[in-house]
Amino acid sequence: MGHTHIDTAALTVHAAAAALRAGRFSSVELVTSLLAAIREGNAGLNAYVWLDEEDALAQARRADAALAAKQPGALLGVPLAVKDNLSVAGQPCGCASRILEGYRAPYDATAIARLRAEGALLVGRTNMDEFAMGSTTETSMHGPSRNPAARDHVAGGSSGGSAAAIAGGLAIGSLGSDTGGSIRQPAAFCGCVGLKPSYGRVSRYGLVAFASSLDQIGPIVKDARDAALLLRVMAGHDPHDATSLGLPVPDYLAHGAGGDLRGVRLGLPREYFADGMDGEVATAVRCAVEVCRGLGARIVEVSLPHTSYAVATYYIVATAEASANLARFDGVRYGRRAAGTMSPREMYCRTRAAGFGSEVKRRILLGTYVLSSGYYDAYYLRALKARTLIRRDFEQAFQCCDALLAPVTPAPAYPFGAGSDDPLQLYLGDIFTATANLAGICALSVPCGRTGAGLPVGLQVLGPAFEEGRILRVASAYE
Ligand code: GLN
Repeated sequence: MGHTHIDTAALTVHAAAAALRAGRFSSVELVTSLLAAIREGNAGLNAYVWLDEEDALAQARRADAALAAKQPGALLGVPLAVKDNLSVAGQPCGCASRILEGYRAPYDATAIARLRAEGALLVGRTNMDEFAMGSTTETSMHGPSRNPAARDHVAGGSSGGSAAAIAGGLAIGSLGSDTGGSIRQPAAFCGCVGLKPSYGRVSRYGLVAFASSLDQIGPIVKDARDAALLLRVMAGHDPHDATSLGLPVPDYLAHGAGGDLRGVRLGLPREYFADGMDGEVATAVRCAVEVCRGLGARIVEVSLPHTSYAVATYYIVATAEASANLARFDGVRYGRRAAGTMSPREMYCRTRAAGFGSEVKRRILLGTYVLSSGYYDAYYLRALKARTLIRRDFEQAFQCCDALLAPVTPAPAYPFGAGSDDPLQLYLGDIFTATANLAGICALSVPCGRTGAGLPVGLQVLGPAFEEGRILRVASAYE
């Protein structure tokens, strides 16, 4: 045992599951190869922030016993990497923040429990922006992840560690969370497939909340079929999350089986192809549109007229919710506490002053401000109204098309140090992704080529709420 070396770089979740089932290699062999790849490659990418090799191998041995006993499980023996804001019982759940140093999750998130029930192994925690606030993983207490396609460039964020692990051959499949683009943007920057499910499709129970009306858990993987497979396992109603819906979960794999796009109407939102976009990104996305046309899709132009309000709306809603959600990190219940004898109030202030990084503090301040009396009507209430307009834009667009095609980001991955210390500049990069969260619809990113410098570009496919099967079909046909 342990002699067969498996090349994990191109291995997908579905291929690994099939190979394990067919006995072509064991889970221990797979995990051993993966751990070797991580040992070799992680120092350069900083994709994982925590790994327990012993426990990973113990999980693999149990999976091998279950495989030998022909026990069921769509993911039996397949190791997955998990973003550091998703609870896995007994593992750290640090959100890349000093304030959660030393904290271990007491239970499995529902999405994790469902993956585990299908036999998946939870082997490591991936890097992220602190509390998922950022677009580069540079706000992580562990330092940034590097882009496997160009190591002097960011991997994106906030789920940058998961994307870097997948693109760098250090993971078979991974999970991220998406509040305003944190699955799709790093997937686009690194050249992976990333899917943000519709709001309510996947339970948020056990996901450390950033902005509860926007957050969703989703896969970052190597192809559309893996996205379909992981989504199918995680999706569905959960009594622990009142916002998870009881709609039936279709067999996404049946849709995601390749084929053509005949009879599918794909809309191009005019406002997503406006000036100011990087020329190479625009060209790559337009080429992808032509590929879809060649596959039989009918391409129609549509308009999402309120797009220009998306970034402002998102940063008001997201920071308002974050300011409430992060109030629980007070040094009493979780993680770190300021040392010494002092009043509770002083302990609370010192813990938060030392525990949170500057981006998190900026957002708590912003969020508290927009909710404060006198400003609530001017900012928060207005943002809620703008959010409704943005949602209606999509409802209208989906009356004349089945799904939308768009860029994921206005530009490819940034080089380190190039403006990523300017928060406003970074916020503007969320323009094409934050809209889907505000509207509650589903959207994914699928690789659509590279720039001359070799940086990956993502094609975004957006669909109506609970029509993940549709966008997976488009992505799979495009692949
Ligand atoms: N980049 C966005 C932000 O900084 C999105 C983050 C996310 O989706 N978690 O808020």
